[in-house]
Amino acid sequence: MSEQTYMGVPRKEIPWSPEIDYAKCDLCGSDPQCLRFCPHDVFSIEGDPKKLIVKNPENCVVFCRSCRKVCTPDALGFPSKQKVLRIIKSKRGF
Ligand code: SF4
Ligand code: SF4
Repeated sequence: MSEQTYMGVPRKEIPWSPEIDYAKCDLCGSDPQCLRFCPHDVFSIEGDPKKLIVKNPENCVVFCRSCRKVCTPDALGFPSKQKVLRIIKSKRGF
């Protein structure tokens, strides 16, 4: 299987994925909307007590922030797009 890339850069070298603010995340009661919403198997619920984690950060679509809109307490953050673009460009050598 070929390595996943974005703009010619290996996906694993691109630091783009959701960050969970645990002070705000309440697991939506017990029905995590972000996990239900995202089709890319990025999130998982693990542990006891249960906790949302970003299990597969490289599955997150680069520059997607869509799950943010389903998170009522605004517990999902993302890196700076400009900063990540700079990283991508530097890895491409321009
Ligand atoms: S949608 Fe927000 S509050 Fe709900 S589980 Fe996801 S991060 Fe937590
Ligand atoms: S930003 Fe998009 S791809 Fe990434 S976890 Fe959220 S919905 Fe999924």
